[in-house]
Amino acid sequence: MNESYQIISAAFAVSLSLSAFPAAITVKDAMRSPELKDVRLEGWLGAKMDRFISKRLVDPFLREQIFDEARQAFEFRNDDDAKVGGLWRGEFWGKEMLSSARVAEYLQNREFLSFVREECHRLMKFQDADGYLGSYSDKDLIHVRDQKACMQKMGWLSNWNLWNRKYAIWGMFMAYKATDDKTILASVEAQLNNWIDVVRRTGVPMCDLGTTVMNGMPPMSILKPLLMIYEETGNRKYLDFASEMLPLWDRDDGRCPNFFRNAASGKALHTWYPEPQRWAKSYEMLSCLDGLLEYYRVTGERRCLDTVVKIRDLLDKYEANPFGGIGFADKFIGAASRPNGASEICDAIHWMRLNVDLYLITGEDRYMDSVEMCYYNNFFAGVDRDGLFSAFAVRANARHEHKIACGYAYSHCCLNNIPRSFMDFASTVVTLDKEGVFHVNQFADATVTLNGVKFTIRGGYPVENKVTVEIVGSPKKVVFRKPSWCPKMDVTENGGTYVLSFDMNPRLIAAAQVPNPQDPSTIEETDKWAAKRNAFAWQKDVGLDVRRLYRKTPALALWNGPLLLAKSRRLGMNTEQLEDDTSVIGKGYRPILTRIESDRVMAAWDVRLVKEGEKDITAKVCDFQSVADFRFGDSFTWFSIWF
Ligand SMILES: [Zn+2]
Repeated sequence: MNESYQIISAAFAVSLSLSAFPAAITVKDAMRSPELKDVRLEGWLGAKMDRFISKRLVDPFLREQIFDEARQAFEFRNDDDAKVGGLWRGEFWGKEMLSSARVAEYLQNREFLSFVREECHRLMKFQDADGYLGSYSDKDLIHVRDQKACMQKMGWLSNWNLWNRKYAIWGMFMAYKATDDKTILASVEAQLNNWIDVVRRTGVPMCDLGTTVMNGMPPMSILKPLLMIYEETGNRKYLDFASEMLPLWDRDDGRCPNFFRNAASGKALHTWYPEPQRWAKSYEMLSCLDGLLEYYRVTGERRCLDTVVKIRDLLDKYEANPFGGIGFADKFIGAASRPNGASEICDAIHWMRLNVDLYLITGEDRYMDSVEMCYYNNFFAGVDRDGLFSAFAVRANARHEHKIACGYAYSHCCLNNIPRSFMDFASTVVTLDKEGVFHVNQFADATVTLNGVKFTIRGGYPVENKVTVEIVGSPKKVVFRKPSWCPKMDVTENGGTYVLSFDMNPRLIAAAQVPNPQDPSTIEETDKWAAKRNAFAWQKDVGLDVRRLYRKTPALALWNGPLLLAKSRRLGMNTEQLEDDTSVIGKGYRPILTRIESDRVMAAWDVRLVKEGEKDITAKVCDFQSVADFRFGDSFTWFSIWF
């Protein structure tokens, strides 16, 4: 530790001692989660998660490479090399730390907890005396000052300075929670104070900060960690700053996104303003909604909860994608009206986060239904089976989209966020309500201890339809969620062990069944954008061209229980079969599934589509999440969900 750093730490420690008391939460959640250390996620998907955690997070060699690379953004402060705008390399460290800190709580591995603490101290060496810890050498470059020059140099109005710092603040705050190292908290408070000070000093309204077209949503997503740090420290400055932000989303002039007013209109989110493919950036917006929920917890201001519920329901209706998540490749452009699917993994991660939080606050099962569908399909399809990497986006056919970002080998936008979803899921497998009733919300193999009661969930769900839940302890009452896709669920009990049987309801679900309420003249524009976005930056050397496979007409996707299924090359289907774009939609076929053996996927089936008087249509399918969970190459990973 160098001398100047010691002095800074001492200064932070003084400010900490003046304000370190927790603030009261006004509204108590309907549900209480177990501590992460009291949950184990097991079974096939638990093993896939463990592989990711042990290889990328815990393995000493790889974690050091990952953090060393991510830390460079703070060491060299070169995100704003362009001078007129900047990049988002500075987000990688914070995202990786958010993930690592929560996984450290889960594992309670002392060596890994020490690593988390030490890595925070390694980053803190790049913190300035004024509290600044960021990846831009021009600390005050928090908005695009010269739009013409920025367009000329960068091709878009890009600025992620405050956004990047938000992630470092949040990641380190979670590391403090995991390690109880007060010097980390002192650094966090200094960073946050500096963040607030630069916003005030610059004097530009928050809706004009950051990447211009996003109307301040990336920087304003500070709301969630800001309030969490308020809850921890009781520093009124943070709550006051949060309260100042809310009027920017409740405006007479209608400035985008105007959450409070637009949510009340009941209109589909992508029709609120023209060009949703530009402004309606999915996970940045979901991150802001997270903050509104935290504001509700802290203040009890009911309209914050009501607004988020309304927006969530609009997204559920108009943005449902074919994978159980929402949005089309990082934007809200009416995904439910499009006969195609592409989804950024961050959007799946944040859709689940929003639903987890709404569930904890309200206790309503429908939010857990959304988590289940998204987790097993949209999310896990993006987690590579080797535990080393993740997709940036998953598609409905061809192969998923892997890429590197900003020239970094070990990090990209979604990859470093992945473990947050494992932990979010773990935190709601079993919950306890205010009346002392236990709620078993998820059924994949897991072991959970909450309030001295131990739940052991077994059976191989979501592939298998019989689940046993052994309960040790004396729960007052236990409730099992009935999934929304399930027409019939039986529960029997014998000496403290429950057996749940689900009717898996094999079913064909049509894409693009929600009429697009967008103005017809602008549908054409978003259609063109979606077709282009489906292929992202087309790379010739990656494999077969996916652009020609962009689906323009509705088709059917096959579901069994909570799993989306896909036709797979791993199971012997050939390229012609997978690229056949004809559909049986509207023809009255029904699916019959027979399990087949395969050690290449989580589960495989022979499917027969049958209709009286017609020849059967046959295919080999597997669960969507393991059909193409590997980077690059077409040999194994070519697939299609469409029938
Ligand atoms: Zn992402």
